[in-house]
Amino acid sequence: MAKDMIWRSERLSGIGMTSQRTRTRLVNLLRGEGISNERVLEVIESVPRHIFLDEALASRAYENVALPIGFGQTISQPYIVAKMTEVLLAAGPCQRVLEIGTGSGYQTAVLASLVGEVFTVERIAALLNRAMICLGELGLANIQFHHSDGILGWQEHAPYDGIIVTAAGTQVPDSLLRQLADKGRMVLPVGVDDFQQLRLISREGDQFNEEVLDAVRFVPLLEGKQ
Ligand code: SAH
Repeated sequence: MAKDMIWRSERLSGIGMTSQRTRTRLVNLLRGEGISNERVLEVIESVPRHIFLDEALASRAYENVALPIGFGQTISQPYIVAKMTEVLLAAGPCQRVLEIGTGSGYQTAVLASLVGEVFTVERIAALLNRAMICLGELGLANIQFHHSDGILGWQEHAPYDGIIVTAAGTQVPDSLLRQLADKGRMVLPVGVDDFQQLRLISREGDQFNEEVLDAVRFVPLLEGKQ
């Protein structure tokens, strides 16, 4: 193998603290915390979370914690990524999923491995660009990216049978409700700072049923783009 090929394969598979063994340990921990969808666990076991982090933090990639990714934002905790994905898929497979808050792109990679197509929206251009590079490296081709204010959703490709929001607003954005398909499911945090709830909204025609799942802590959902 040429030297750059070895480098590339080591970067993706990881060594030492970023190795397969540490990913397997994380998955066992998530199973212990109640994540039971084996396909979700399999994907978490295979997606290299360390490539979505700055090199200085890569050795902590398989701890069950949120970590900084710059611009005051964080990569979500693996438990939260697994939980939101499991809830989204609980009623059956999803074909088209809208994700608001691409951030590092890690949640995007997990989703893209489990659903037909992911449409992901991020308001910070620098984060979106970095995520595009990492997701390209993984060879995931079923993702479309949009630099925009995700509070408005992404009308062009609506309706979506799944919507995931990875930043907390004080209320559920109306545009997202409108872009959710009939029988679709949306998972999102709602609230401020210390008081946020993870909610599941399932649509039945014009009816939106809400269920509170967990107490959570996400960065805020902000208006506009930068
Ligand atoms: N799932 C991501 C989470 C990143 S943190 C990961 O694991 O890396 C949440 C992200 O939501 C941040 O990148 C933030 O910039 C973005 N965000 C906040 N408000 C937004 C909005 N209105 N539209 C799009 N993205 C938004």
